[in-house]
Amino acid sequence: MNLDELVFHPWAVQGPRDVPTLVGGSGSHVTDVSGKRYLDFSSQLVFTNLGHQHPKIVAAIKEQADRLCTLAPGNASDIRGEAARLIVEVAPEGLGHVLFTTGGTEAVEHAVRMARLFTGRPKVLSAYRSYHGSTTTSIHLTGDPRRWASDTGTAGAVHFFGPFLYRTAFGSSTAEEECERALAHLEQVILLEGPSTIAGLVLESVTGSSGVIVPPAGYLRGVRELCSRHGIVYIADEVMVGFGRTGAWFGVDHDGVAPDLLVFAKGVNSGYVPLGGVLIGDAICEMFTQRPYPAGLTYSGHPLACAAAVGAITAMHEEATVEAAARLGTEILGPGLKELAGKHEVIGDVRGIGGLWSMELVRDRTTKEPLVPPGAVGASNAPMASFAKACLERGLLPLIMGNRIHVAPPLNVSDADAASGLAILDDALAAANF
Ligand code: PLP
Repeated sequence: MNLDELVFHPWAVQGPRDVPTLVGGSGSHVTDVSGKRYLDFSSQLVFTNLGHQHPKIVAAIKEQADRLCTLAPGNASDIRGEAARLIVEVAPEGLGHVLFTTGGTEAVEHAVRMARLFTGRPKVLSAYRSYHGSTTTSIHLTGDPRRWASDTGTAGAVHFFGPFLYRTAFGSSTAEEECERALAHLEQVILLEGPSTIAGLVLESVTGSSGVIVPPAGYLRGVRELCSRHGIVYIADEVMVGFGRTGAWFGVDHDGVAPDLLVFAKGVNSGYVPLGGVLIGDAICEMFTQRPYPAGLTYSGHPLACAAAVGAITAMHEEATVEAAARLGTEILGPGLKELAGKHEVIGDVRGIGGLWSMELVRDRTTKEPLVPPGAVGASNAPMASFAKACLERGLLPLIMGNRIHVAPPLNVSDADAASGLAILDDALAAANF
């Protein structure tokens, strides 16, 4: 019996699957049960920023496991404190405390709760084309079709359009125009919803799984300014892009912005042990020096997860991973993917930054009709499935989201591996049944 059939898979039609069973890994590669190696161009779900089996992270987990595997959150813990110190040290100005969670979704839930307690207001704004998690609040904030099946319209979420020049909602033709118009639109939404009803605004600093959309320069600064002007808590969702993915420690750093709350997960410890958290601004933290924070988790700041964070962040400093991610984007992935767009008519747009890129596949470059519709499964998704199969046959693990191929190798991928990944994508694009 294929034991994978006993596992209920998130976001998936259940039933037998034709996928390799992975049993090992090292650096940018994973190995299946037959010994075949695959270059991991997905960093799994964009979290193994330091690749697989990084010796420093593995050693940190082992050392902590030998010393003290677990502790309740109420105890003081040396490793938890050290993880918090390392996180705060690289965080934007004014974010001096960390609430640890076990992942990104929980971090979003807690940030929203804090914003509501701080302002006494009910609503939360978020962008169309966003993903913030799959629990009740976070799925309602999610702005893409993954929300639809769960949306009861009762969570106080209000959506707005962020800047996205390729499919502009504002008829813009330049990034500057798109930025200006998106900010004017957001201001209208705030004014018409009523600023006194809006607790917070949650925004991915670079939109990740809903399209890899990099905001134009000045947009995040404009959002910061609007939130400050209207007393709205600005929550930066850095679950996917925090800890180096974009070639900066955090996505907000590209625009020189400090949010009131910042949620993180994934790259904080390359996902070796589940960990997420909320970086908390001083004003909000101050409120909870007068009264208790009314929420918690049994595994908040789990020692093994915190040890993995200490190992990962230390390695990132030692190996200059953030700088490597910036170079990966400007010198290798950006130019390489644009070259692919020159060869393959099916690629409508290439966009990204650092170690996070996307090729959007279209039926027609003029109409920009997506190659497969949103939420496509089965026959309607056949073109993307045939591309995925072509990648796996050639020894590459791809990350496919709807009509897009996301490209997100480990940030420490070697130049040679990155080049061979690009060559496999080229070959698979030619071989796929589009
Ligand atoms: N926010 C963003 C931007 C994400 O990309 C994700 C997950 O991909 C989440 C929140 C949810 O995080 P998790 O899956 O760790 O709960």
